[in-house]
Amino acid sequence: YTKKYKRNSYTIYSEELDQKASYKLAIERDLKQAIENDELELYYQPIIDLNTQKVIAAEALVRWHHPELGLISPNDFIAVAEESGQIIPIGTWVLKTACRQNKQWQDSGIPPFKVAVNISTKQLQHYDFVETVIKILKETALEPQWLELEVTESILLEDIEFIKESLLKLKEVAISLSIDDFGTGYTSLSYLRQYPFDKVKIDRSFIEDINRDLNGKRITSAIISLAHSLNMSVVAEGIENQSQLEYLSEERCDEGQGYFFSRPMPVDSLHLDLLEKE
Ligand code: C2E
Ligand code: MG
Ligand code: MG
Ligand code: MG
Repeated sequence: YTKKYKRNSYTIYSEELDQKASYKLAIERDLKQAIENDELELYYQPIIDLNTQKVIAAEALVRWHHPELGLISPNDFIAVAEESGQIIPIGTWVLKTACRQNKQWQDSGIPPFKVAVNISTKQLQHYDFVETVIKILKETALEPQWLELEVTESILLEDIEFIKESLLKLKEVAISLSIDDFGTGYTSLSYLRQYPFDKVKIDRSFIEDINRDLNGKRITSAIISLAHSLNMSVVAEGIENQSQLEYLSEERCDEGQGYFFSRPMPVDSLHLDLLEKE
């Protein structure tokens, strides 16, 4: 019995590995054609000003409609794209699409808000990233103050001088800069002070903990007050219920984002939503 059981479980295990490996291979192989084949789409999730309850930004979140594998989440292909270098054309496509979309929203007469775009470390390390961003703003005629770039904390561990210089140049042309998923890396807020960030986005895991234990509350409050003392505003990610929102408002968190307000959605749905709110 034991032998048979072991052999079976080994077989299952190895099949599973094979499946995972071939899934990853398919992603690597097909990602190259995703842009040409028009398979990428941006969803947008509203970011709410907690003082006024108004939409002040929308975060662009990429989705891939694979012809056979269906809808693929960025968690399943961004890392692959970073490894293969595909993140450069994909990142440019995302930026261009998001800026063009925001310009279109503004032209449609709804109250203007920023569009927030996630930037991977590989993009920011690329020699002509700053020029690319500036060129895209010109081409799409979006004014720089309506664009916000989100970079993750881990970026601060690499190529410090080059990245700092690029961020300063972006800041100079009035683009807003946020640090994403804050609290998950190893940086302290005081270390952040040497970079020109306008905003800190508190990672969802801390917001989740607000209702769970006292430490969740304490960490969140500490991040908010430290960020404020460094003149940065604070966004809470992943707000899912009223009591999290109440706590964050009490603690003077500036902005919020999460399923409690709205899930990320396709352009047309967000547009209708915004028109309704007017
Ligand atoms: P992120 O930038 O931290 O984006 C927030 C993620 O949390 C999104 O997942 C969003 O759908 C999800 N989320 C928002 N509110 C809630 C909530 O209340 N509860 C829960 N459980 N989740 C919530 P998504 O769209 O799957 O994106 C995952 C990550 O992929 C993003 O995390 C970002 O790091 C990356 N990503 C997405 N789009 C792009 C892109 O265009 N370029 C790059 N480089 N990375 C991207
Ligand atoms: Mg983000
Ligand atoms: Mg985040
Ligand atoms: Mg994240």
